[in-house]
Amino acid sequence: MADTTIIDGKAFAEALRTRVKDAVMSLTKDYELIPGLAVVLVGEDPASQVYVRNKKKQTVEVGMISFDHQLDTNTPEADLLDLIDKLNNDSSVHGILVQLPMPDHIDAEKVIDAIDPTKDVDGFHTINVGRLSTGKEGMVPCTPLGCLMMLKDQLGSLSGKNAVVVGRSNIVGKPMAALLLRESCTVTVAHSRTEDLPGLCRSADILVAAVGLPKMIEGDWIKPGATVIDVGINRVPKEEEPGKFRLVGDVDFVAAKEIAGAITPVPGGVGPMTIACLLRNTVSAACRIAGVNEPPM
Ligand code: NDP
Repeated sequence: MADTTIIDGKAFAEALRTRVKDAVMSLTKDYELIPGLAVVLVGEDPASQVYVRNKKKQTVEVGMISFDHQLDTNTPEADLLDLIDKLNNDSSVHGILVQLPMPDHIDAEKVIDAIDPTKDVDGFHTINVGRLSTGKEGMVPCTPLGCLMMLKDQLGSLSGKNAVVVGRSNIVGKPMAALLLRESCTVTVAHSRTEDLPGLCRSADILVAAVGLPKMIEGDWIKPGATVIDVGINRVPKEEEPGKFRLVGDVDFVAAKEIAGAITPVPGGVGPMTIACLLRNTVSAACRIAGVNEPPM
C-alpha cells in the first residue's frame, strides 16, 4: 500500500506535552496549583535509570515539580512502604510512580497497592484496574492510553472495529484490551498459547503488538489497510556494526508498512507517548485532588 501513514509518535507526544504545559500554566495562574510527580527508583537497573532521568527532565519542562527518590538495591520493603505512606500524605505530591521492575525481595504488587489510588498515575493499583474494567473513571496505564490516543487520532470512531491485542500483560495487553472494549471494538486478546496467530492477526482492523519478540509479526499477517500499533521495544545486534545495538518492534515494519493503512515505527512510535501520558495523568490527578476542573489536554 503506497499511501500508508507512518504514525509519528514523537510529534504526537510533543503536541501532547505542549497541551500539558499550557494546562499546568493555567492551573498555576488560576489556582496556584503546581502538579508534583514523585518517582521512586529502587536499585540500579540501567534502563530504569534512563527512563527515570527522562521522566524528571520532561516533568520539569512542562512546569511541574519533580520529586526523586533513588533508593539502594537492598532497601527493605518496609522502608519503601514507609516512603509511599509519606508521599501519600504529602499535599505537594499529586502523582506517585514506582519504577518497575523492582528487586526480587520486594513484593511489587504490595507496593503498588500501597499507593493512594488517586495518586497512582501509572494506573496499576488494583482499584484503578477494576475501575477501567468496569468502565468507571480512574487512572489509565500510560502506554495503552498513548496507543488509544494515536488510534483515535488516526481512525476517529473505533466502534465496531475488530481489534486484536497480542500480549496479555497487566501493564500493556490487558488494559489495552479494556480500553478498546470501552471504545466498542470487538476485542480478541492473543498470547503465547493462541492457535493460528497469523490467521487471527489477519482478521484485525486494529492490531496492537505487545509481546517483546523482535519482528515476530510478519508482513503477510496484516490485513490490508489495518492500523498497526507496535508497542514492542527490542534491542537487537546491528549486523553492520558488531558490538552495537538498534531497537526494533514486534512487527516486521518494512514488510508491514507495504500492507497496513497506518503503522507506528520503532523507535519513534508508541515509546515517546508513554511519558507524555504520565504527565497528563499527573495533571488529572492534581485537578481531582484539588477539586478543580481539568483544563483541556
Ligand atoms: P510481557 O513479557 O509482560 O508480556 C508479553 C506477552 O506476550 C505475554 O502475554 C505473552 O503471553 C505474550 N507472548 C509471548 N510470546 C508470544 C508468542 N510467541 N505469541 C503470542 N504471544 C506471545 O511484556 P510487556 O507487556 O511488559 O511488554 C511487551 C513489549 O512492549 C516489550 O517489548 C516491552 O519492552 C514493550 N513495552 C513498551 C513500552 C513503551 O513505552 N513503548 C512500555 C511497556 C512495554 P503469555 O501471557 O501466554 O506468556
